[in-house]
Amino acid sequence: MNILVTGGAGYIGSHTCKALAAAGFNPVVYDNISRGYERAIKWGKWVKGDLSDHAHLVRSLIDYKIEAVVHFAAYIVVGESSSDPAAYYQNNVLGTLSLLSAMKQAQVKKIVFSSTAAVYGTPKSVPLTEDHPLEPINPYGWSKFMSEKMILDFQRSYGFQGMILRYFNASGADPELEVGEDHVPETHLIPLVVRAALGGKPLQIFGNDYPTNDGSCIRDYIHVSDLAQAHVLALQKINTSNQSGIYNLGNGSGYSVFEVIKVVEAVSGKKVPTTIVPRRVGDPATLIANSSLAKAELGWCPKYAELETIVKGTYEWELGREFRSGL
Ligand code: UDP
Repeated sequence: MNILVTGGAGYIGSHTCKALAAAGFNPVVYDNISRGYERAIKWGKWVKGDLSDHAHLVRSLIDYKIEAVVHFAAYIVVGESSSDPAAYYQNNVLGTLSLLSAMKQAQVKKIVFSSTAAVYGTPKSVPLTEDHPLEPINPYGWSKFMSEKMILDFQRSYGFQGMILRYFNASGADPELEVGEDHVPETHLIPLVVRAALGGKPLQIFGNDYPTNDGSCIRDYIHVSDLAQAHVLALQKINTSNQSGIYNLGNGSGYSVFEVIKVVEAVSGKKVPTTIVPRRVGDPATLIANSSLAKAELGWCPKYAELETIVKGTYEWELGREFRSGL
């Protein structure tokens, strides 16, 4: 079964291509390499293309006999979305509309969508369940909210089947280190803490005055390969049933910034230099997922739930960076 993976050259996209191939699917990566890497396309063909190119999308869906789409391609940096919302609405919202209407034209009606806990905004209570109110607090969250809404409307009006997956904090690297996290600029906590331990810039801790045990923010870190597996299960579900669904994907346990630093220090054997700086705009104090629904309905069972395992993956991936850059 041929699956178009938009953004398949990116972080979660590339790990998902590996999981799809292992499960017997044929991924076809549709990516413009604006934020991803050609070297991360290791499973399946690459179609170089932009989401805005509707005609190219329709042709690709038909030419490659695509039966379902996994849609990752999007900008993901919260701060950037506030400084340049137009780019986020253009790429994430209009890009998704272009993709959905191309799918409608090509009669491909199954989609698995990469969404985010950012659609919830500031939690009224944690752990978050899927029925928590959707009140994003930044343009990135709104862009994913609007994309979700379009998918739900395409389900209602055109017989689409959609699986909306709301990720918490994707982290770690493929256990065989064939792919890993390579954002430029990197804004995510775990790679930045690891880089600080390895002699990079001191980690800036964004606020130590949150209403949490140690004053730093608490997040639910989920291994990227566990996220990848959820996409495989979601695809299998839409293939074998007429169901659609919305699922949170997290481990259900939260770690503060200081706790993450401690784990990185234990894994690396090195002290992490830090400085405390003011809060980052738009950071809720605590985000923790309730993923019972994904477990019950998709049979999802995270294999790499320990924070130490997640951090070890990032650590090994970061250690290999110099070696890979010489290849
Ligand atoms: N964070 C931090 N310093 C950094 C990067 C992140 O203190 O250099 C904190 C951030 O405020 C948040 C947590 O780490 O509470 C996770 O941030 P990340 O950007 O990794 O993911 P987000 O939760 O924003 O999606």
